[in-house]
Amino acid sequence: MIELKGIAASPGIAIGRTFFLDKEEFAIKKHKIDKKNIDAEIFRFNEAVDKSRFELVEIKKKIVESIGHKNAKIFDAHILVLNDPLFIEKIHNRIKTELLNVEYAVWITTEELSNAFIQSGDSLVSERASDIHDVGRRILRNLLGNEREILASLQEEVIVAAADLAPSDTAQMRKEKVIGFVTDMGGRTSHVAIMARSLEIPAVVGLKEITEKVEPGDLLIVDGNSGTVIVNPENDVLKKYEKEKKKIRVVASELIKLKDVMVRTVDGHEVRLMANIEGPEEIESAINHGAEGVGLYRTEFLYLNRSDLPGEEEQFEAYKYVVDLMKPHPVTIRTLDLGGDKFLSHLNLSPEINPSLGCRGIRLCLNRPDIFKIHLRAILRASIFGNLKIMYPLISGIEELKRANQILEEVKQELTSKGTEFNRDVEVGIMIEVPSAAIIADFLAKETRFFSIGTNDLIQYSLAIDRVNEKIAYLYEPLHPSVLRLIKGVIDTAHNAGIEIGMCGEMASDPLFIPVLLGMGLDEFSMGSISVPVIKEIVRNISLVEAKGLAEKVMNFSSAGEIEEFLRTQLKKNQT
Ligand code: PEP
Ligand code: MG
Repeated sequence: MIELKGIAASPGIAIGRTFFLDKEEFAIKKHKIDKKNIDAEIFRFNEAVDKSRFELVEIKKKIVESIGHKNAKIFDAHILVLNDPLFIEKIHNRIKTELLNVEYAVWITTEELSNAFIQSGDSLVSERASDIHDVGRRILRNLLGNEREILASLQEEVIVAAADLAPSDTAQMRKEKVIGFVTDMGGRTSHVAIMARSLEIPAVVGLKEITEKVEPGDLLIVDGNSGTVIVNPENDVLKKYEKEKKKIRVVASELIKLKDVMVRTVDGHEVRLMANIEGPEEIESAINHGAEGVGLYRTEFLYLNRSDLPGEEEQFEAYKYVVDLMKPHPVTIRTLDLGGDKFLSHLNLSPEINPSLGCRGIRLCLNRPDIFKIHLRAILRASIFGNLKIMYPLISGIEELKRANQILEEVKQELTSKGTEFNRDVEVGIMIEVPSAAIIADFLAKETRFFSIGTNDLIQYSLAIDRVNEKIAYLYEPLHPSVLRLIKGVIDTAHNAGIEIGMCGEMASDPLFIPVLLGMGLDEFSMGSISVPVIKEIVRNISLVEAKGLAEKVMNFSSAGEIEEFLRTQLKKNQT
């Protein structure tokens, strides 16, 4: 039996057998082949290249039909790589002379070429790196079969162990028999963790060495509440956790009974508790947990796990469905927030050294108005089916906001000229998740109807702590005095400007932080659905006066540690 400690990413207890996902997206093994197998190996390679070319031509056709020739250019670039005799010859030679197996020959050649391009220092040349890289991955997928296909064909429930997972992998788990997962890398606010909470899959991340400690088939206990993982538990430990699992289920079903109870402090102050969702399939859970609307709809998940972009109709149907089911409650649709840890390989964005500081969120949309306009059209069309609001992510300054609004205006005019219906007075708000936006919130408030604080990014950017990096997770401190000052400042600014302010970062779902945020005057808390009943219970057991007192006191401490200790002591006092 081995016990490991990691970062509690998604609550609950899972007990099951380990399914091992290799460190790489593809499990590439290097081995020497027999000389007599050279032809067979080259044949496999050529076949995979033909298949890849066929796929690319098909995708290109679809893109041309849906959004035009200009956007299909990247597929031409990929096809060019596949047709490049030098590229093909390089791999043939590796197989013939170095007697390398085809998978390794493809992998090492594409790695070498793309690294050489990146290091060239020439931005045009380095853009080619991602073409080579993507083509290499496509060929490998066709040689190996996709790892996810293996996941998809699982017959029994498993716990996935992996070095790292992409948010798109977690999204995929929805449909599969994955009852929990554990990873070496990652932080609590990585999208992989957020997604796990939405899917109600217990998870522990940032375990650093779990992939070294487990073997496929090992029995695992994942305690997503404490961040503990036990490999091959002894009998008494197993029994203890089975009992605990049952207890958690009972408590959860008790809390769910609060579904229709008002969210009001003991002295009558009302706040709204909303749900964060990643897709339409989560809306039922949001309603069942008593959310009074959707405070954050992460639309980018519709763009992941596919080789093309979702078209206007598909997006429209998804947004309409959510808005319609939630009405009369509001649904805040956040416009596409790709980039950072949510990337799309087929958009062919050139690799970035700092993706979180790169072309993500609203920046990507402003760079690609073609994609943004289709997205906005779908959102606007859905606006007549309920109470829909639009929210831009990652706004860092006033010009970005004005440019986004200008594009929105253009789309509105296009719809009007075609006679398409939409809500002309749709509310538009922004996320406050970049420190610069928090600091100039007074200017931004004049151009927008509401704010929502995205603490996941606000903390990452204020403290310069990568939210997905487990090595520095101990420095990711929501209670850092600088973070609290920024939050307090933005709440006051919003109220002075007469606009409402919510929070949709993970901080809004942590029981320890709720009294302080309430006391600071936050109007709305948006969180993964499973947290709604727990937070409701906390709000119902505190008075606004008491919360205000706490919020004032915490501003006097100079470190996160002191603030946390103070809040924990208060919590204990209230419980006794
Ligand atoms: C945030 O940054 O707090 C947020 C809610 O957005 P996301 O987690 O999707 O980046
Ligand atoms: Mg964010």
